[in-house]
Amino acid sequence: MNKGLLLILSGPSGSGKDTVLDSLARITPIKRSVSMTTREKRDNEANNIDYIFVDRTYFEKCIKNEDVLEYVEYSGNYYGTPKGPIDKWLSEGMNVILKIEVHGAESIKKIYPDAISVFITPPSFKVLEKRLRNRNSDSEEDILKRLKTAEYEMTQATKFDYLVINDQLEDAVNNLNTIINAERLKTFRIINKISEVEENA
Ligand code: 5GP
Repeated sequence: MNKGLLLILSGPSGSGKDTVLDSLARITPIKRSVSMTTREKRDNEANNIDYIFVDRTYFEKCIKNEDVLEYVEYSGNYYGTPKGPIDKWLSEGMNVILKIEVHGAESIKKIYPDAISVFITPPSFKVLEKRLRNRNSDSEEDILKRLKTAEYEMTQATKFDYLVINDQLEDAVNNLNTIINAERLKTFRIINKISEVEENA
């Protein structure tokens, strides 16, 4: 059994990571790691599906117990990747996606050097601001904070293995799927296939 691929998807809040992932999940099997956060649940979100929503005391206990692989404070809230089933999924050959911000991406790359990092960007800041406002879920203060953070996040894009511009959703999804397919075909990931071919001579 070949190991699955660990994909890190980062990009400014409002770049469309969730929408891209929802569409991707319709065309290829993918496991999404559910992060833990202290942020307030939005109306369209469900506990344990979009996030594991917890309070700060609980999150800090998880940090102390080393139950999270990485964590950050973003816009005044904690976000972290629970250790959870990632290794199990990978060893079962499943592709796993972590949707995390840029510092988390760096931490995960240190733990899993084979992880593939993808930076997703909106076509412009104007579009980003429009998407954040259309969500109708965050306060004006939070939107401004997220736009400020986006400026910094864009400076980190060059550290990623791939860049996907989310202008037309379908193109972004196809590009992400192409990255996954190509990465899965890398020789070092399927080296055992060579001996299978030889044995079947
Ligand atoms: P939002 O509040 O918009 O859902 O998420 C804010 C930012 O936190 C997004 O960039 C999102 O990808 C990131 N994020 C979500 N979960 C995690 C996590 O577990 N770790 C890290 N480092 N970032 C996360």
